[in-house]
Amino acid sequence: MADDDIPFNKTLALTPGRVEEVAPGVRRVLCDNPSPFTFKGTVSYIVGRGQVAIVDPGPDDETHIAALLDAVRDETVTHILVTHTHRDHSPGVARVKAATGAIAFAEGPHRPARSLHVGEAPRLDASNDTDFKPDQKLADGEVVSGRGFTLEAIATPGHTANHMAYALREQNLIFSGDHVMGWSTSIVAPPDGAMSDYMASLDKLARRDERVYLPGHGDVIREAPQFVRSYIRHRQGREASILHRLGKGAADIPTLVRAIYIGLDPRLARAAGLSVLAHLEDLVVRGLVATEGMPSIANTYRLPS
Ligand SMILES: [Zn+2]
Repeated sequence: MADDDIPFNKTLALTPGRVEEVAPGVRRVLCDNPSPFTFKGTVSYIVGRGQVAIVDPGPDDETHIAALLDAVRDETVTHILVTHTHRDHSPGVARVKAATGAIAFAEGPHRPARSLHVGEAPRLDASNDTDFKPDQKLADGEVVSGRGFTLEAIATPGHTANHMAYALREQNLIFSGDHVMGWSTSIVAPPDGAMSDYMASLDKLARRDERVYLPGHGDVIREAPQFVRSYIRHRQGREASILHRLGKGAADIPTLVRAIYIGLDPRLARAAGLSVLAHLEDLVVRGLVATEGMPSIANTYRLPS
């Protein structure tokens, strides 16, 4: 997407399956599942030494899970932490649990951010992992401690309703999942995602002082609070573009996407439409945009008269 207002890092010098120390006491392994949605693939993290936690085992990918387990072959996996229930993050939990007996932690099973409207299909349905259930649910601020690591759960709904980031206190860094990524903006697609939640979750991170984020896709983010603020400005800019276009007259979502996303990868058109819908839902609730009935992907939108 044309997001030149954010200092993206579109490189990642990481070979799938190779283990690399990315911060003191934190290793990462890249899964070989590249796509327009996952960049080079999902990045799984191993926290600690000897007795370790794994953050986001990734998809149900035998080769990737074998690489992760090989990386910890002389160690004990005590904890698995899941940022959210998309199929590129949580399905690998089952294999890691079966091999290690580790306990899986997450905010909860998959759920949409709001109920479906009449006739509305769940969004990129294939992307949801509805099988995953955590052994232990985490609430915002709850702390998971292992030998040598302390991880604080930070509820960050928006990309999904159950998204959690995890702060590693010993290293003053955050595993940011898909909430904040270095290579792209996060997809916020109703009904699984919600823009008002997403913006509140960005504000929440912008107020914290961790400098380094380790995302679910892409490279390390340094000067993270600044990066988060550029994400917030970007969303505000997108909102302004929508209002600007509607100022010229009523429009449907495909028209808004064409006006706002210049040079969009066609494979991302549907996601972009849902992202615009996410903004419109938020704008309708705030009374800044009007539409007939519930905001939906097929509606026409206008400024209130
Ligand atoms: Zn995701």
